[in-house]
Amino acid sequence: MATLCHSCERNHFTCYCHLNIAITNKTKIIILRHINEKKHFFNTAKIAQNIFENIEIFDGEEFSKHQRLNHILTKHKAAIIYYIDQISSSFEKSIHNNSFKYDYLILLDGTWKKTYKIYQLSKNLHSLPLYAINSKVKSIISVRKPPKEFYLSTFETVKYCIEKIEKRSLNHSLLPIKYIQDQILSKKKG
Ligand SMILES: [Zn+2]
Repeated sequence: MATLCHSCERNHFTCYCHLNIAITNKTKIIILRHINEKKHFFNTAKIAQNIFENIEIFDGEEFSKHQRLNHILTKHKAAIIYYIDQISSSFEKSIHNNSFKYDYLILLDGTWKKTYKIYQLSKNLHSLPLYAINSKVKSIISVRKPPKEFYLSTFETVKYCIEKIEKRSLNHSLLPIKYIQDQILSKKKG
């Protein structure tokens, strides 16, 4: 077993800690990560947690009885960034007309099938407003094929939401992802 960096939990080959990227942000985000996603080699939720502030990751599939989540939901206003046809409102429009006022954003991390399962099973999410991102921004991740043209990774979704809510540009936050990807590609080429 290769030893993992204690900070980013990656092997020395894809450890990005030397890049020293740390973003100060106010937006609070909860990532509900599907249990099968935790072991995924890219694990962009973890990278987001390392680089941004105020990010919590909860692992599971059914979050109805999740104590910390339920505590947050009883005390704060929260919205989910998740696309369900005909139901989700436009995130961008809501930002534009200044009606997006929430203490917490909730993101679901996993494939479309897995995140849908999380949403279906977790009844405590059903009363929360849903917002869909319509970014027209292409994912920079090329080593993992996206299911749709404008599908963003969890990291990129976190970045995009913070950029819109806090009205700032955070393109330099993508450096670790680019670095990891370059490392993987250079290994493939030998
Ligand atoms: Zn590291």
